[in-house]
Formats: sequence, C-alpha cells, structure tokens
Amino acid sequence: MSVHAILIYFIPFFLVMVAIELWAGKREGKKLYGPSESFASIFIGFVQQLTRFIPFSLVGLFWWWIYDNHRIFTLEAGSWWYWPLLFVSLEFFYYWFHRLSHEIRWLWATHAVHHSIEEMNVLAAYRFGWTNRISLGSLVYAPMMFMGFHPGAVVVMLGINLMYQSWLHTTLIPKIPLMEGILNTPSAHRVHHAKNADYLDRNHGGVLMIFDRLFGTYVAEREDEPVDYGLVTPVGSHNPVKIAFHEWVNIYKDLKAYPMRYWLGLCFGPPGWKPNGEGMTSKQMRRAYREADVIASPVPVPAE
Ligand SMILES: [Zn+2]
Ligand SMILES: [Zn+2]
Repeated sequence: MSVHAILIYFIPFFLVMVAIELWAGKREGKKLYGPSESFASIFIGFVQQLTRFIPFSLVGLFWWWIYDNHRIFTLEAGSWWYWPLLFVSLEFFYYWFHRLSHEIRWLWATHAVHHSIEEMNVLAAYRFGWTNRISLGSLVYAPMMFMGFHPGAVVVMLGINLMYQSWLHTTLIPKIPLMEGILNTPSAHRVHHAKNADYLDRNHGGVLMIFDRLFGTYVAEREDEPVDYGLVTPVGSHNPVKIAFHEWVNIYKDLKAYPMRYWLGLCFGPPGWKPNGEGMTSKQMRRAYREADVIASPVPVPAE
C-alpha cells in the first residue's frame, strides 16, 4: 500500500475544501483558480494516483527487508505510546525527507513539480511528482523500520501528514495566533512555496514547525516581503507532462553539457549548482540578496 493509495479516501473531504475555498474566494472577490493551472493540477494529481498501480517499489522492498530482518525492537501498535511516538518520529523523518527533497537535485526533480504552483489554492496541494520511485527519497524513512515501526503504520501516518497539508495551500487564511512557529499553517506554507530569495528552502515541516525551529529553517511570513509563488526558474508551460518531467529534462541537458567528472554534483548536489560557479544555489541566492539588502538598508540583516 502506498501513501497515495490512502489519499484517495480523502478526496471527498478535499473536494469539499476546494468548494469552500471557491465560495469564500468569490465572496472576497478573489480569483483563486485559473483554468490552465487548475487543469495542470488535476491532470498531475490524477496521473500521480495512477502511478501507485506500478507494482514494483524498490523503497517498499527495502522498508520491508529492514523491518523483517533488521528491526531492533518490535513496537506494539496496541501500546498507548505507539501512535504518539510514531507521529513525532514521522514528523522528524518527514522534515528530513522534505528538506533533502529541496537540497538534493535528484530528489528535487520529483518535488519541484509540487513547487511549480504559481497560483496557490487547495487544489494545488494534490500536485505531486510522478517519479518518486526513481528519486527514491522515501529511503529517508528507513530508520523508522529499523526502530521497529511497521511499514503499514508508517504509510498511514504519512497519509495523515499529507492530508493535513491540504488546507495549508489556501491564501485566504491569514496568520493564526498561537499556531505560528509550532504547527504548520497556511502562512508558514506560503513561505515554503515562495521563490523570494529570503524564503527559499524554509519551513519543511509537515504538521509541526518545531523541527524547522530546531534545525534553523523556520521563517515567518513578513509583511515587507510579500510571497511570490513558484519556481526560481519557471517551467514556462502549463502542460502537465512538461511540468512533471521538466527538472529531469534539465538534468539530462546539464549532463550533456558538462564532462563526466561533474555528473555526480549535477545529479546529487543542490539544485542550481553548476560547475565553475555558472549556477546559483538557493544559499548563494539568499546571501546575494542579503548582501544587496545590507547595502541598501542601514539596519544589518542577521546572518544565518
Ligand atoms: Zn517543498
Ligand atoms: Zn505545498
């Protein structure tokens, strides 16, 4: 059973959320859904659901192999602490899965599809990449099976985590007092979807924001820095197939353009990296932006 197999049960609730958002947006006189972006999100979400019928999953096999042969504990799902412990562990590993999906280009090639959204709305929450089984990012969760969590329970908790994230994609909900910086909120997730240099690769948590705070990636939405949604280098098309494969195509073009000694860096280095300083990673973009900002403003911007 894959995570996305669980998400299918959530579709009725999800459609109700879309309807509420459409209604509320109309009342506020906001146009939240353009036809091309919406079509792309529906198409990409639909095909993503179909990919779960591919019978072979290397990561699935690896998870089960670890659970069956190498788990150090047998954690009882009936114990009162099992589900809270599973929740916190999953949040921890989800944080790293998501963060690495931004920091390693091979994983980013799949995750960039979710970030191709230029029009934030609940429907866009279902825009997931099709190539997880090539990126293999879910290997990050393997230590959970090693600890003794059943793969099925991990998948269920991951499904809950992703369901929670649907409502975060609305632009209609402002900052929520007491929740900001503790739980993931629409405001925190708006920052996550921004291409502004200062917001890049921030707020990776699923339900919780505490791991972002712990590992220094939490940033609150600021009034003086309005969010600009999408990718730093836009796909330039609403064609869902182009969106789904655009970063793989970029990788292929780079491999053709540079000698073999750079291939590891081009595939597994950070997105934006290119040999001889020809590219720009998000860290470099942020630094350049801040340096420019320090020159422009008399108040120094705190370093990372
Ligand atoms: Zn992301
Ligand atoms: Zn999102």
